[in-house]
Amino acid sequence: MNSSLPEVMKRAVLHAPRDLRIENVPVPVLQPGEALVRVQSALICGTDLRIVDGTKTKNVVYPSVLGHEFSGEIVAADGALPENLRIGDRVAVYPLVQCGECASCQRGRGNICRNRRAFGYQIDGAFAEYVRIPAEAVHAGNLVPVGDTPADIAAVIEPLACAHNGQRLIDAHSARSMLVVGAGPLGQLHLRLARALGVETVIVVDPAPHRREVALASGAAAALDPSEVTPERVAKITEGAGFDTMVVAVGRADAMEPYLQMLAPGGRVNVFAGFPDGTDQVRIPANSVHYNETTIVGSSSCTLDDFRRVAELVRTGAIAADGLVTAHLPIEQLDEALERARQGIDLRISIDATGSLVATHRGTNA
Ligand SMILES: [Zn+2]
Ligand SMILES: [Zn+2]
Repeated sequence: MNSSLPEVMKRAVLHAPRDLRIENVPVPVLQPGEALVRVQSALICGTDLRIVDGTKTKNVVYPSVLGHEFSGEIVAADGALPENLRIGDRVAVYPLVQCGECASCQRGRGNICRNRRAFGYQIDGAFAEYVRIPAEAVHAGNLVPVGDTPADIAAVIEPLACAHNGQRLIDAHSARSMLVVGAGPLGQLHLRLARALGVETVIVVDPAPHRREVALASGAAAALDPSEVTPERVAKITEGAGFDTMVVAVGRADAMEPYLQMLAPGGRVNVFAGFPDGTDQVRIPANSVHYNETTIVGSSSCTLDDFRRVAELVRTGAIAADGLVTAHLPIEQLDEALERARQGIDLRISIDATGSLVATHRGTNA
């Protein structure tokens, strides 16, 4: 253990839906095999909002420390770290711990392991100064080194890896065109990833003009209001072919149904977004799916392999993950930050529990 660590730290504890408290608690004392990460950037994700609001309760343990998109520095370990890691290294943390034994795990699809446990609602997450990394996560390679990658960008590796999982499942690297429905943070990441994978024509659909502008600046061939996406317009953009691929990055039926008819033969659809309970029914044009051999595949979180690949793409600059974090707030203002996230003004908000905010980010949000 590191004797220079403080004894007490701040963290945000969710005791029940809507009951979120900032508390001073002892810095975790490590058990054999565990490591301690000092958080440098922890982002608010839609999943965090759904947990706070109580619209996601499945598998959520109370009390819980939210935050699963994060990066930080390894400050202590009890026992040996994996060979590629040292105390002081900066890492992004793959947020799932898998059983390693079920059929999904055996097939390399540990992200859909039924016995998996997730940082942020089953394992204490990153809206805290320090995060304890369980021994099985240290051992499994969940600590992924990021070198000099800035903290906010390293924290974006997680959502970007989720996009990578979805695009891998629809073979995006072999697609010429893609429709991305929804230009929120994940829609923007899908756009950037598709461009980095070589998809020539990416069209983004979103009703919000400021999000369409961001998409155009990030390489979208067009960014349209939903009312503008007509079969004629799509035919014109794709030279009559229709879309090879489509990513549904909004959990609403009307973000999926109208566009299924605009796919090219052999089209591939990734149902990326989670749908709120009770709104998860979508009408599928069965004959169009049948005659066109349409593939519709869901994706949930990401594999450790996706996470490592994306960390490499980000580290080498092959994909631009900058500009996604548009606000930084201290943990004391977490309620306000969550409200801003609900309103969708920012793409991603980083929560700071360490007090380094003033030193490192002063002036960046003016
Ligand atoms: Zn997330
Ligand atoms: Zn498993």
